[in-house]
Amino acid sequence: MADPKGFLKYTRRVTPKRRPVELRLRDWKEVYEDFSHETLREQATRCMDCGIPFCHNGCPLGNLIPEWNNLVRLGRWREAIERLHATNNFPDFTGRLCPAPCESSCVLGINQDPVTIKQIELEIIDKAFDEGWVVPLPPERLTGKTVAVVGSGPAGLAAAQQLTRSGHRVTVFERADRIGGLLRYGIPEFKMEKRHLNRRLDQMKAEGTEFRTNVNVGVDITADQLRADFDAVVLAGGATAWRDLPIPGRELDGIHQAMEFLPLANRVQEGDDIVGPDGEPPITAKGKRVIIIGGGDTGADCLGTVHRQGALSVHQFEIMPRPPDTRAESTPWPMYELMFRVSAAHEEGGERMFSVNTEEFIGRDGHVTALKVHEVTMVDGKFVRTEGSDFEIEADLVLLAMGFVGPERSELLADLGVELTERGNVARGDDFETSVPGVYVAGDMGRGQSLIVWAIAEGRAAAAGVDRYLMGRSALPAPIKPTTAPQR
Ligand SMILES: Cc1cc2nc3c(=O)[nH]c(=O)nc-3n(C[C@H](O)[C@H](O)[C@H](O)COP(=O)(O)OP(=O)(O)OC[C@H]3O[C@@H](n4cnc5c(N)ncnc54)[C@H](O)[C@@H]3O)c2cc1C
Repeated sequence: MADPKGFLKYTRRVTPKRRPVELRLRDWKEVYEDFSHETLREQATRCMDCGIPFCHNGCPLGNLIPEWNNLVRLGRWREAIERLHATNNFPDFTGRLCPAPCESSCVLGINQDPVTIKQIELEIIDKAFDEGWVVPLPPERLTGKTVAVVGSGPAGLAAAQQLTRSGHRVTVFERADRIGGLLRYGIPEFKMEKRHLNRRLDQMKAEGTEFRTNVNVGVDITADQLRADFDAVVLAGGATAWRDLPIPGRELDGIHQAMEFLPLANRVQEGDDIVGPDGEPPITAKGKRVIIIGGGDTGADCLGTVHRQGALSVHQFEIMPRPPDTRAESTPWPMYELMFRVSAAHEEGGERMFSVNTEEFIGRDGHVTALKVHEVTMVDGKFVRTEGSDFEIEADLVLLAMGFVGPERSELLADLGVELTERGNVARGDDFETSVPGVYVAGDMGRGQSLIVWAIAEGRAAAAGVDRYLMGRSALPAPIKPTTAPQR
């Protein structure tokens, strides 16, 4: 039982400090300083274990938040990691990277700052790894069934771990040269050091999951071959088709998609030999005037990356208006709040510009030199140009971080014959089965561009569907259903 008056004793929400900007810009390590466990226990005491813990609903994984908050308060860390792992395969990823919808729906957040749930989660899993409590959990017996997982992002990894532990022989196929999906090549090192991903993969390999990289399923292995070789398939290929900006000048050099740029910076951190004589990767911001088009998370990741590469100047454009400083009325508690956020990358510099639309890229000798832009206002849900607001801004490097439109229209999807939704995502029923029996889908490929926590939740739920398909029944948890889960 939690301390029902803890939030009265510890009224202030305390979160870890970020390392000084001038220090952290000199390296690619994570930006947060260590957090004292004594303070953490006080913060955990702020959780009152309210009668209806809305945080359970806020989290797609249904994390048992009040339970592990209380266990941390009592210093019972080993039980805390067991409760945490009961609903989340990878709290080491979500503890670092999740925007924490659970905190948005914390009851304490109605009239005080919410409990720092995400930090408690992170400290539990980091301590568990430090103490050697995170060990491989291989199955006691094998079922003789085989499953192919296509794609090694968080959805594919979660599905693979659940199914391997259930006794099926699971092979994860990844077309890239390393495992991890966006965890590996999208998310920069300063948000999550890749050693955290690697130690999880070590655990999964020891449990029996097989990983095969550099295999583009649908090309290197045909859909027919896949169906013939495996009893079931989980599609977890992500929503990798990026949104472009087809305006005059788009063909100029120096304009790149965020996901053409970020993987290169991540490869440098992996130690790949891709740098030129100047020590820089093929696309670099060093000494350049950079414009990032897109004000979301991907844009912020580009921002932190260009800072570390030594950009001369950076502007980040967002077409939407600046959100309010506090929770917008349109997103009342317990919804995930729309509000102005300052990420670590924003704190490091650059100018954020809202209500800005780019109409043309201007260039010289085939290379971008400037952007022609104007301000917009939103009228009846449509952007309307603000007369007299036109201006030009110089640029040597433009990064497009405007989101993703869905999965790629690949040979794999065509040859498998899976139905797509109106939005172009892979359609699925409540157990995450596609229109083709025995073929399941999880993560961004079925949901559209989303979050790691949703990918893990969908991977777990799809694994339960696959297990039932193979065995006739399943004891695996299925935290969500596509038809009832809200989109985000
Ligand atoms: C730059 C960036 C930063 C982000 N930051 C955050 C964040 O901080 N927090 C957060 O919650 N979310 C974040 N997101 C969103 C999050 O990363 C995704 O929602 C999540 O990774 C989706 O997981 P997934 O497993 O569905 O797909 P992905 O992670 O996209 O993985 C799909 C994998 O499938 C592989 N693949 C595709 N087709 C094939 C094929 N035919 N054969 C073999 N392999 C194939 C791809 O190469 C890829 O590796 C970010 C996204 C981006 C782009």
